[in-house]
Amino acid sequence: MPNGGPDCCGNCSHNRAVQEMAHPHPSDREKFRLISFCTLRQVALSHPFWTYCENFSYGKKPETRNVDEAVVGSITSSGLYEGYVRIPWHDAVEPRVSVPAGCMICQRQTDVGITILHDGHDLGFCTNQHYVRWWLTQHVDDSFKAENYESPEERFKEPEGPR
Ligand code: SF4
Ligand SMILES: [Zn+2]
Repeated sequence: MPNGGPDCCGNCSHNRAVQEMAHPHPSDREKFRLISFCTLRQVALSHPFWTYCENFSYGKKPETRNVDEAVVGSITSSGLYEGYVRIPWHDAVEPRVSVPAGCMICQRQTDVGITILHDGHDLGFCTNQHYVRWWLTQHVDDSFKAENYESPEERFKEPEGPR
Protein backbone atom coordinates (compact mmCIF):
# COMPACT_ATOMS: atom_id res chain seq x y z
CA MET A 1 0.00 0.00 0.00
CA PRO A 2 1.47 3.38 -0.90
CA ASN A 3 1.71 6.07 1.68
CA GLY A 4 2.15 9.81 1.54
CA GLY A 5 5.66 10.06 3.00
CA PRO A 6 7.86 8.35 5.61
CA ASP A 7 7.32 11.15 8.19
CA CYS A 8 3.76 9.99 8.87
CA CYS A 9 2.10 8.93 12.11
CA GLY A 10 2.36 5.33 10.93
CA ASN A 11 6.13 5.55 11.54
CA CYS A 12 6.14 7.86 14.60
CA SER A 13 7.19 6.84 18.08
CA HIS A 14 4.36 8.92 19.57
CA ASN A 15 1.79 6.65 17.89
CA ARG A 16 0.56 3.98 20.31
CA ALA A 17 0.28 1.49 17.44
CA VAL A 18 4.01 1.94 16.69
CA GLN A 19 4.80 1.59 20.39
CA GLU A 20 2.85 -1.67 20.62
CA MET A 21 3.26 -3.23 17.18
CA ALA A 22 6.28 -1.56 15.53
CA HIS A 23 5.56 -1.87 11.83
CA PRO A 24 2.49 -3.90 11.00
CA HIS A 25 2.52 -7.00 8.91
CA PRO A 26 0.03 -6.63 6.05
CA SER A 27 -2.42 -8.90 7.90
CA ASP A 28 -2.32 -6.59 10.94
CA ARG A 29 -3.05 -3.36 9.09
CA GLU A 30 -6.58 -3.02 10.40
CA LYS A 31 -5.55 -3.58 14.02
CA PHE A 32 -2.71 -1.07 13.55
CA ARG A 33 -5.18 1.51 12.22
CA LEU A 34 -7.67 0.89 15.01
CA ILE A 35 -5.16 1.40 17.81
CA SER A 36 -3.36 4.32 16.15
CA PHE A 37 -3.46 7.17 18.67
CA CYS A 38 -1.06 10.06 19.21
CA THR A 39 0.07 9.84 22.83
CA LEU A 40 1.65 13.32 22.59
CA ARG A 41 -1.42 15.16 21.29
CA GLN A 42 -4.04 12.76 22.65
CA VAL A 43 -5.91 12.23 19.39
CA ALA A 44 -7.01 9.15 17.49
CA LEU A 45 -5.42 8.76 14.07
CA SER A 46 -7.82 7.24 11.58
CA HIS A 47 -5.39 7.43 8.63
CA PRO A 48 -1.97 7.00 10.25
CA PHE A 49 -0.06 6.66 6.97
CA TRP A 50 -1.59 9.88 5.60
CA THR A 51 -1.30 12.07 8.73
CA TYR A 52 1.70 14.16 9.80
CA CYS A 53 3.04 16.78 12.19
CA GLU A 54 6.25 18.59 13.10
CA ASN A 55 6.69 16.45 16.22
CA PHE A 56 7.34 13.35 14.13
CA SER A 57 9.96 11.18 15.72
CA TYR A 58 11.06 8.08 13.88
CA GLY A 59 9.71 5.08 15.77
CA LYS A 60 12.68 2.75 15.81
CA LYS A 61 12.92 2.93 19.62
CA PRO A 62 9.63 4.40 20.83
CA GLU A 63 10.62 3.86 24.46
CA THR A 64 13.24 6.62 24.05
CA ARG A 65 10.73 9.24 22.79
CA ASN A 66 10.39 12.53 24.65
CA VAL A 67 6.96 12.29 26.28
CA ASP A 68 7.22 15.91 27.51
CA GLU A 69 7.90 17.42 24.11
CA ALA A 70 5.95 20.63 23.37
CA VAL A 71 3.61 20.24 20.40
CA VAL A 72 4.56 22.25 17.33
CA GLY A 73 1.99 23.47 14.83
CA SER A 74 -1.04 21.64 13.51
CA ILE A 75 -1.53 18.05 12.54
CA THR A 76 -1.88 17.75 8.77
CA SER A 77 -3.50 15.26 6.41
CA SER A 78 -3.02 14.56 2.76
CA GLY A 79 -5.37 16.90 0.91
CA LEU A 80 -7.28 16.42 -2.33
CA TYR A 81 -4.78 15.18 -4.88
CA GLU A 82 -3.12 17.98 -6.85
CA GLY A 83 0.26 16.37 -6.41
CA TYR A 84 0.79 15.38 -2.78
CA VAL A 85 -0.17 18.30 -0.55
CA ARG A 86 -0.90 18.52 3.15
CA ILE A 87 -3.77 20.41 4.72
CA PRO A 88 -4.13 21.27 8.42
CA TRP A 89 -6.55 19.72 10.87
CA HIS A 90 -8.96 22.04 12.66
CA ASP A 91 -7.35 21.51 16.09
CA ALA A 92 -8.21 17.88 16.92
CA VAL A 93 -10.76 17.59 14.09
CA GLU A 94 -9.63 15.80 10.97
CA PRO A 95 -10.81 17.09 7.59
CA ARG A 96 -12.69 14.48 5.56
CA VAL A 97 -11.18 14.38 2.09
CA SER A 98 -12.65 13.16 -1.23
CA VAL A 99 -16.25 13.38 -0.02
CA PRO A 100 -19.29 15.14 -1.50
CA ALA A 101 -19.38 18.80 -0.49
CA GLY A 102 -21.06 22.11 -1.24
CA CYS A 103 -18.43 24.83 -0.92
CA MET A 104 -19.18 27.50 1.66
CA ILE A 105 -16.75 29.87 -0.09
CA CYS A 106 -17.88 29.62 -3.72
CA GLN A 107 -21.06 27.44 -3.52
CA ARG A 108 -19.68 24.93 -6.01
CA GLN A 109 -21.00 21.37 -5.56
CA THR A 110 -18.58 18.50 -5.97
CA ASP A 111 -18.53 14.77 -5.28
CA VAL A 112 -14.83 15.01 -4.41
CA GLY A 113 -14.48 17.82 -1.89
CA ILE A 114 -13.60 18.36 1.76
CA THR A 115 -15.78 18.64 4.85
CA ILE A 116 -14.92 19.63 8.41
CA LEU A 117 -16.96 19.47 11.59
CA HIS A 118 -17.12 22.92 13.20
CA ASP A 119 -19.45 23.98 16.03
CA GLY A 120 -21.67 20.97 15.38
CA HIS A 121 -22.01 21.68 11.65
CA ASP A 122 -20.35 20.06 8.66
CA LEU A 123 -18.77 22.77 6.51
CA GLY A 124 -17.96 21.94 2.89
CA PHE A 125 -15.22 23.04 0.51
CA CYS A 126 -14.56 22.45 -3.20
CA THR A 127 -10.76 22.48 -3.04
CA ASN A 128 -7.80 22.44 -0.68
CA GLN A 129 -7.48 26.17 -1.43
CA HIS A 130 -10.97 27.06 -0.23
CA TYR A 131 -10.64 24.82 2.83
CA VAL A 132 -7.36 26.52 3.79
CA ARG A 133 -8.86 29.94 3.10
CA TRP A 134 -11.58 29.14 5.67
CA TRP A 135 -9.08 27.50 8.08
CA LEU A 136 -7.02 30.72 8.16
CA THR A 137 -10.08 32.58 9.46
CA GLN A 138 -9.92 30.26 12.51
CA HIS A 139 -6.16 29.88 13.08
CA VAL A 140 -3.10 32.11 13.05
CA ASP A 141 -0.37 30.20 11.23
CA ASP A 142 1.86 31.66 8.52
CA SER A 143 2.97 28.24 7.33
CA PHE A 144 -0.26 27.71 5.36
CA LYS A 145 -1.10 29.96 2.44
CA ALA A 146 -4.29 29.41 0.45
CA GLU A 147 -2.65 30.56 -2.79
CA ASN A 148 -0.16 27.69 -2.56
CA TYR A 149 -2.98 25.28 -3.39
CA GLU A 150 -4.76 24.74 -6.68
CA SER A 151 -7.58 27.21 -7.35
CA PRO A 152 -11.11 26.02 -8.25
CA GLU A 153 -10.64 27.60 -11.69
CA GLU A 154 -7.62 25.34 -12.28
CA ARG A 155 -9.17 22.29 -10.72
CA PHE A 156 -12.54 22.43 -12.43
CA LYS A 157 -11.57 23.86 -15.80
CA GLU A 158 -13.29 22.22 -18.75
CA PRO A 159 -10.94 20.18 -20.92
CA GLU A 160 -10.46 21.89 -24.25
CA GLY A 161 -12.35 20.08 -26.97
CA PRO A 162 -11.30 19.57 -30.58
CA ARG A 163 -11.79 22.65 -32.78
S1 SF4 B 1 0.47 13.53 15.27
FE1 SF4 B 1 2.67 14.01 15.15
S2 SF4 B 1 3.53 13.33 17.12
FE2 SF4 B 1 1.51 12.38 16.91
S3 SF4 B 1 1.89 10.35 16.01
FE3 SF4 B 1 1.48 11.77 14.31
S4 SF4 B 1 3.50 12.53 13.63
FE4 SF4 B 1 3.74 11.63 15.70
ZN1 LIG C 1 -15.03 26.68 -3.37
